[in-house]
Amino acid sequence: MSEIVLPEVELNIYSPKEPTEITVVENYVCTKESSPNFVRHVTFDVSGTELEGRVRIGQSIGILPPGEDERGRPHKLRLYSVSSPTNGEGGKSNLVSTTVKRTIEELDGKLYTGVCSNYLADLKPGDKVKATGPSGKRFLLPENPRNFNYVFFATGTGIAPFRGMIMELLESDYDGHIALVFGAAYRTDLIYPDYFMETEKENENFHYIAKISREDRRPDGSKHYVQTAIDDNKEQLHPILEQENTLIYICGLKGMEKGIYQNLAKNGFPEYLVLKGDFENIDPAEWDWDEMTRNVKPGDRTFEEVY
Ligand code: FAD
Ligand code: NAP
Repeated sequence: MSEIVLPEVELNIYSPKEPTEITVVENYVCTKESSPNFVRHVTFDVSGTELEGRVRIGQSIGILPPGEDERGRPHKLRLYSVSSPTNGEGGKSNLVSTTVKRTIEELDGKLYTGVCSNYLADLKPGDKVKATGPSGKRFLLPENPRNFNYVFFATGTGIAPFRGMIMELLESDYDGHIALVFGAAYRTDLIYPDYFMETEKENENFHYIAKISREDRRPDGSKHYVQTAIDDNKEQLHPILEQENTLIYICGLKGMEKGIYQNLAKNGFPEYLVLKGDFENIDPAEWDWDEMTRNVKPGDRTFEEVY
């Protein structure tokens, strides 16, 4: 197998103390049907800043929302994954995109609207935003991306980096295999569905698997989650997972990685993991969920960004 070498990246060219200013150029809903999970594709023009051409797919940018918290301190920075390829949205190096979900919750009977996600979602073309970054140096495509196959697992807006990675790979004469496994609560919550469905039609080597958790159940009554694809979509995933030059990337909700690890091990793919203690000898179906945190780690071929 080729050596996995991650590219050197630039980090924190702009800090919260010395942010830069970037300009919104577009902001549109990127789910197809109307849904209370409002997700928007927001593109910024970073011309004239040091971010131009220096943000890699897999990295995040920081956004400083205006205003103060309830204690009178300036709002803190929030991170957003870049969803445009490294060469920029639409191939323009001055354009950097992200994928933002409005945080909306009912707390103690009152509506709480997340500070930064709703600030971003309300922005109009021409609006200026204070930004930092880039951040992240591990959740990246390797330097020699064409030498590998990829299985991407995303829940919700965890799909952001994979949009850019898939664009980047497929625009580069790539002839390996890519599977994207995406988890959403309802079909109306599929993010960028047209792009992924069209891309699947046009590229024999790209497989799009959507796992919808709240519409129907698996035969044993459990939910369809991204990790259940390893059991239920064997014909698409196993031939890719079996190859020694396949890499796995996991992005989204914290906790999703455990289910993926367990199903990888149950299906005979422990090589993507590092098993500690006596976990190598315990049947993965019997793994204790809490003990897994200490005893099951991602191996060299597995990358994750979950929180
Ligand atoms: P906040 O205002 O910070 O609220 C978040 C939660 O905190 C609320 O839902 C609530 O539960 C609680 N809370 C906060 N204040 C109060 C209060 N006064 N009273 C009660 N409860 C409160 N998000 C995306 O949408 N897209 C991305 O691509 C993305 N990428 C990320 C990448 C990384 C590496 C990381 C770490 C995070 C990423 N996020 C992404 C998440 C993002 O950074 C924010 O956390 C998210 O948008 C919520 O921020 P907010 O300011 O809208 O919500
Ligand atoms: P969501 O809508 O809450 O969930 C998406 C899907 O994941 C639903 O089908 C949900 O099922 C399912 N799910 C819940 N628990 C799971 C588990 N343990 N394993 C597998 N699937 C599970 O997602 P969201 O609100 O968009 O949130 C996405 C998360 O990703 C957020 O926490 C966001 O901040 C984070 N994120 C991280 C990064 C990053 O680190 N780079 C980037 C972008 C987003 P049910 O709800 O029906 O159980």
